[in-house]
Amino acid sequence: MTNITDVKELTHFIGGKMISGESGRFSEVFNPATGEVIAKVPLASSNEVKDAIKKAVASFPAWRDLSVAKRAEIVLNFRNLLKENKDKVIELICIESGKTEEDAMGEITRGLESVDLAINAPHFMKGEYSVNVGGQINAYSAKYPLGVVAAISPFNFPIMVPLAQTSMAVAVGNAVILKSSERVPMTALYISELWKEAGLPDGIWTVINGDKEAVNELLENPVVQAISFVGSTPVAHYIYETGAKYGKRVVALGGGKNNMVVMPDADLEQVANAFISAGYGAASQRCMAISTLMPIGQETADRLVEILKEKIDRLKVGAFSEGADYGPVISAQAKENIIKAVDRSEEEGATIVCDGRNKDITKNDKGFFLAPTLLDHVKPGMKIYEEEVFGPVRNIVRVDTLEEAIKLINQQELANGVTIYTNNGLAARKFTTEIDVGMVGVNVPIPIPVGYHNFAGFKGSRFGDGQMFGPDQARFYTKTKTVSERWLSASENSSLSFAFPSN
Ligand code: NAD
Repeated sequence: MTNITDVKELTHFIGGKMISGESGRFSEVFNPATGEVIAKVPLASSNEVKDAIKKAVASFPAWRDLSVAKRAEIVLNFRNLLKENKDKVIELICIESGKTEEDAMGEITRGLESVDLAINAPHFMKGEYSVNVGGQINAYSAKYPLGVVAAISPFNFPIMVPLAQTSMAVAVGNAVILKSSERVPMTALYISELWKEAGLPDGIWTVINGDKEAVNELLENPVVQAISFVGSTPVAHYIYETGAKYGKRVVALGGGKNNMVVMPDADLEQVANAFISAGYGAASQRCMAISTLMPIGQETADRLVEILKEKIDRLKVGAFSEGADYGPVISAQAKENIIKAVDRSEEEGATIVCDGRNKDITKNDKGFFLAPTLLDHVKPGMKIYEEEVFGPVRNIVRVDTLEEAIKLINQQELANGVTIYTNNGLAARKFTTEIDVGMVGVNVPIPIPVGYHNFAGFKGSRFGDGQMFGPDQARFYTKTKTVSERWLSASENSSLSFAFPSN
């Protein structure tokens, strides 16, 4: 067993430098594909976070006052460096999260969309101007950065989510503090070097590694103006409540329980491929992974089960370099919890179509691998139906009509994404109109919007008024000041007036 004192000690990135942790507290970073500890990451104390915030505050005014075009140029340099160094980024993602190379490539490509959008900050900073709104008064609204803002990210996208949470924040003139996941800290530290090389002034980009103590300091510190959180729903709710209590602007995205509805007229071969890719890709560790297949009618369900079983049994699970379809889950604990969720579902009456619990791959390997499980006859009220399982266990819920599917989905809390497969335009129209879920697909496996559209779920998938990706990032990270101004000559002198101003 590796001794934690023998492994590489990671740092924070504060004031433009890699800084060793001083709290004396550490967490282990694993390579999920080998089960080995590959690094220890410092967990920042409140005081270390306070110091980082002070450096960010000191750097903010000069960055705010730089022209937006110059800021955009630095973001463009960063984007080019990210592209040039994407192989290194992919390697880090694979090592610390266990993703396959192909999946990590997809992640960085989608992450770059957010950086691309941020290069357009000059466009997003444009305000509005009205001439002579009354009595020679001109009125304009202008956008200003907030100051010091923070992002807190999850383990399952070591780069895409941090880029989506922070690129626009930097571009519109804020000083940004990223508290990345302590389970995947290396990728975020690495891109800090790229920001520096791109010309970003010290103190504008900070990476704090840590746990609840660091997060609480960010939530409570009066200097921090806004918090963008992405992670599990219970923590998202806590962040939203606490951030609001301390007067901050907060958007907190949580987990997802995403359904794929299948009309009897759909091409079932296409559906099966879409469900398996969107359901089991990345070992199902995606907030937009499809959890539940909802075929309409028993015949559709029976035919799909047959096709799925054959395909799922052929999936290859393995390390990132082995040409696998998906890799390990993030930790030994996660693997154990996922297996327990299958045991419990069996007890609750679900039927097991494919059983991933006792496959060789789970017995012989030290990595946190888990073969795919498919459960049929899952019903509302079962725990597996209600909860997000962040691992390769997917469900089939059989329904008789589209109306029943819509009703069931609209009663679920984790309303992140949903999709329907059909060749019937009217069914699709009814579905997209009546469904109460944030991101909706028609004949697409995972309806993740492209980076220039907004991204967020509804209900328990998102707390606060804000979205990730898209133009909403520019709104979230700026405040609008509205100025009314008048320049009068001496001959146009005004007189006393006690009436409420009107035009
Ligand atoms: P998590 O909630 O455990 O951790 C997310 C972040 O919160 C981490 O940085 C962690 O250090 C911090 N954190 C954890 N517990 C905390 C606490 N008690 N107090 C303060 N901070 C705390 O989530 P995770 O396991 O890293 O990520 C997986 C989850 O994220 C899944 O539920 C997934 O659906 C969700 N997710 C959602 C989206 C989305 O866009 N909606 C995207 C990616 C992931």
